[in-house]
Formats: sequence, structure tokens, C-alpha cells
Amino acid sequence: MHVETGVRLDTLSTLGVPSSADYFCRVTSDSDWLEALDYATNHDLPLTILGGGSNVILGDQIRGIVVHPVGDDIELIEQTGKSVLIEVLAGAHWDWLVRYCNQRGWYGLENLVSIPGSCGAAPVQNVGAYGVEIAEFIDSVRVLDLHTSMFAHIQGQDCGFTYRDSHFKGPWRDRYAIVSIRLRLSKVPMVNTNYAALANALVATGLHEPSPLDVLNTVAAIRAAKLPDVHLMPNSGSFFKNPIVSISQAQSLKAQYPDLPLYDVDAQNSKLSAAYLIETAGLKGYCGDGCGISQQHALVLVNEGHASGAACVELAQHVINTVQAKFGVTLHIEPVVIGL
Ligand SMILES: Cc1cc2nc3c(=O)[nH]c(=O)nc-3n(C[C@H](O)[C@H](O)[C@H](O)COP(=O)(O)OP(=O)(O)OC[C@H]3O[C@@H](n4cnc5c(N)ncnc54)[C@H](O)[C@@H]3O)c2cc1C
Repeated sequence: MHVETGVRLDTLSTLGVPSSADYFCRVTSDSDWLEALDYATNHDLPLTILGGGSNVILGDQIRGIVVHPVGDDIELIEQTGKSVLIEVLAGAHWDWLVRYCNQRGWYGLENLVSIPGSCGAAPVQNVGAYGVEIAEFIDSVRVLDLHTSMFAHIQGQDCGFTYRDSHFKGPWRDRYAIVSIRLRLSKVPMVNTNYAALANALVATGLHEPSPLDVLNTVAAIRAAKLPDVHLMPNSGSFFKNPIVSISQAQSLKAQYPDLPLYDVDAQNSKLSAAYLIETAGLKGYCGDGCGISQQHALVLVNEGHASGAACVELAQHVINTVQAKFGVTLHIEPVVIGL
């Protein structure tokens, strides 16, 4: 483990904002993690974990030490006739893992293909797409307790997984580093085609009984067509969460805006489409200071010209205020704001 100083982070977040870290190191093994934590403690530095940088808005200068997990070791912990339990290091790329598991005949993750970022960060916001969330497959998460320097396994059911959220994004944010994750996957081919856009795309291509690989390829194709490429137009994916409101508020909005998409949450609440609200408020394609709302997708904030993290947050606040004024609904930012 080697600590560098004054490291530029501009290319380490997909939003591509200018940023630098006072101190920076890469970690793979348990001993690397412990050394990084010791370094932070001995030098009295705050410790920030940066994975693939696909869900963060970075400030100009990140104080303290930025720890970047690397390494893609994967271990088969146990298997039965029907399932496998695997453990993969935090530094592995999530999209690589999804494709690798599908090739090995370990099924379940196909709908989550093409989500950028690392395996260690995937439980942090309970990554989800096309009707599937990682919470369904997390057996446990191996963590380093940053307060006690002890390693521990936390069971999936104790992680507080909800829509785009978990305890790791909330009360545990500065407490645990995720060192590896354990996933239980099916050896029996299984597909989840409940999500309407996915089901329609499969039928449109004549795939009436799709295999897991068909689902993976179809989701990858839909995403490639729908989302701006981060290499061409830096962005951090969906910038706003779909807001959850009471059923009565959802119904009164639906009466005013009959084409507003609504999704059931539970007996009291409905989820609204943030993209619809932003687009209907006239903000799709809106230009801010070097950044804007994508022409391609209203949920995506794009950094068109090296805008700072602060400028991106300012633009997001303008979107939040405009949607609040028009619909009386509060949007919340999905990425984690660091150093602002
Ligand atoms: C084009 C695009 C499309 C996307 N599509 C989706 C989607 O469909 N669904 C979805 O859910 N998300 C999506 N995202 C968001 C993002 O890809 C995921 O949230 C991803 O899991 C973030 O991984 P990361 O390694 O880049 O995390 P980072 O951005 O590096 O970090 C995110 C947060 O997790 C923390 N963190 C990172 N690693 C660890 C660790 N090992 N231990 C503890 N904390 C850690 C960080 O400190 C930070 O708070 C998309 C992003 C982009 C750019």
C-alpha cells in the first residue's frame, strides 16, 4: 500500500469534475485496508472511499485520504445443485462480474448489466435496474469497521436495503468500508422480465422465452440506446431518485397530468417518474454553467464543459426548485456529495 499526495481525481469520477485528493492510495488485501486506516488515524485524516466514481459529486479538493479499492478476486464459497455462494472483492467492476457470472452459469444478475462502478459500492445504494435490486442476491457483506479496525460479516437482511438506499449510504456511511461482498446466485436458469420496458423489448425482438443471456443482452442494448455514454458526455447516471409520495398526492397529480407514470410501492405510497416531472417542467436539455440536463434523458445531469462539482449541485438545486414549484414534489439527488 503506497500513499501518494496531491492526486488528481478528474478521471476517477464519471461526472469528470475537477478534483484532487490530499492523500490517495489503492487497496486490495486486508492488510492494505488496515494500513490505509492506520495511516488515516495516525495522521488524523478523514478517510473517503472512492470506487468507480460513478455515483459521486466531488468537490474541488477532498481533504484527508481517498482510498480506492482495486482487485477482482472471486471465490466460490459453496455450491449446491441449485445455487452458488460467491465472494468478490470490492474493487472488481460490477459489469464485469455480471457478465462473468452469466458465462459461468450463475444466474440472477442479468438485469443489472452495464451499471458502472465497483462491486464494493453496489450494496451502498442497493443498485437496481429493470425490476431487480442487488438486495435480492446479497448473502452478506464483509466490512472493515473503521472505528474498531475489526473485520466482520454483515448479513444482507441487516443492511437496511430499500429503494436506492441502505445503511451504508446513511447511518453507516463513515463507519464501514466494504471489503468484499457475498452473493447467492441460481444455477438453474432464471429470468425476471416483469419490468414492462424489458418485456416489450424482448417481445419486439421475437424472444418469447428468453434465456438469461437474452435478458442480459437486451438490457445492455436498451441502456446503450437510452443513456449518454460517460466517455463522450461525462455524467453520473440517474441524478435524481424517483420520488415516493402518498397515494392521494399521486392520484391528484394523475388527475392533472393523465400521462404521469405511477408505480405501486405499498398500501400508502406510490412512486412517480422523476424523468417525467423534469421533462414536463421543461428542463430536459436545460443548460447550466458548463453542465446541463441531458437532451437524451431527463434524469441525467451531464458535465459538458469541465463544470465543477459545486456547479453541478447548483444546477440540481435549480431542477429541484422548479419541480417543487410546479408539482409540489421534492426531488432528491441520487449521487453522494463528497467534499462540498
Ligand atoms: C451511466 C450510469 C448509469 C447508472 N445506472 C445505474 C442503475 O441503473 N442503477 C443504479 O442503482 N445505479 C446506477 N448508476 C449509479 C452507479 O453506477 C452505482 O451507484 C454504482 O454502484 C456506484 O459504484 P462506484 O464504485 O462508482 O461508487 P462510487 O461512485 O465510487 O461511490 C459511491 C458511494 O459509495 C461509497 N463506496 C464506494 N465503494 C465503497 C466501499 N468499498 N465501501 C464503502 N463505501 C463505498 C463511496 O464512498 C460513495 O459514498 C449509474 C451511473 C452511471 C454513471
